[in-house]
Amino acid sequence: MLKLENLKCGYGAFTAVHGLSLKIPQGQIFALVGANGAGKTSTIMTIAGQVELQGGSISFDGRDISKLPASRRVTEGIALAPEGRRLFADMSVEENLTMGGYSRPRSAEAEAKAMVLETFPRLKERIAQRAGSLSGGEQQMLAIGRALMADPKFLMIDEVSLGLMPKIVDVCYDAIEKLKARGITILLVEQNTQRALAVADQVCVLESGRSVWMGSAEEARKDPKLIEAYLGLT
Ligand code: ATP
Repeated sequence: MLKLENLKCGYGAFTAVHGLSLKIPQGQIFALVGANGAGKTSTIMTIAGQVELQGGSISFDGRDISKLPASRRVTEGIALAPEGRRLFADMSVEENLTMGGYSRPRSAEAEAKAMVLETFPRLKERIAQRAGSLSGGEQQMLAIGRALMADPKFLMIDEVSLGLMPKIVDVCYDAIEKLKARGITILLVEQNTQRALAVADQVCVLESGRSVWMGSAEEARKDPKLIEAYLGLT
């Protein structure tokens, strides 16, 4: 479904990712892990069309999308729940969800909202509340919910569990598994490697903008030291 070939990306003269190739088949969960500054966020922002592609290509459903503007990638079925959530803090939960569906016909909005609220019942209780006044976990649910409003085939979530209480992390991961069961292909960026490995089909460890290990999550689960060695954990 999504294929990166020798992807290079960065900011002006600076290159953050130096040639990353990977394939994510339809229906799978792919986890991108690695230390701070490894290039995980840059990679997904480049797939979304929000960071400069400096070389290589991105194809989606067999088509090269490398040159499409970010808004067209959304209509092609690619959605992003970004790092730091980037919600509209002064708007309500409901208004934030409406903004997420801007690329679709108005007639699709009610059904999409119902689906999001079924996935995250907590948001239903908070529907009229200002997004800026939500807890960190609720904001993460809203960021994922807003991305879902675009009815994506491919969903990218940056830093799923960062700063969240364990109970809320569980809620987010339960939702991710439900989305997978609905056929959505998912690319996760996660610092909590163990958590990502528990749900992922495949994993890639990035270090200084390069892939240092890629393989099935099952293999990594069987041999935890494999990944820990790359991440410098004990
Ligand atoms: P983190 O968990 O800290 O977000 P990451 O693996 O997602 O880490 P990136 O955010 O992709 O890493 O950062 C990769 C490199 O790109 C880092 O060296 C970072 O300093 C640099 N970088 C990120 N954003 C910018 C920017 N807007 N301008 C210049 N350099 C940037």
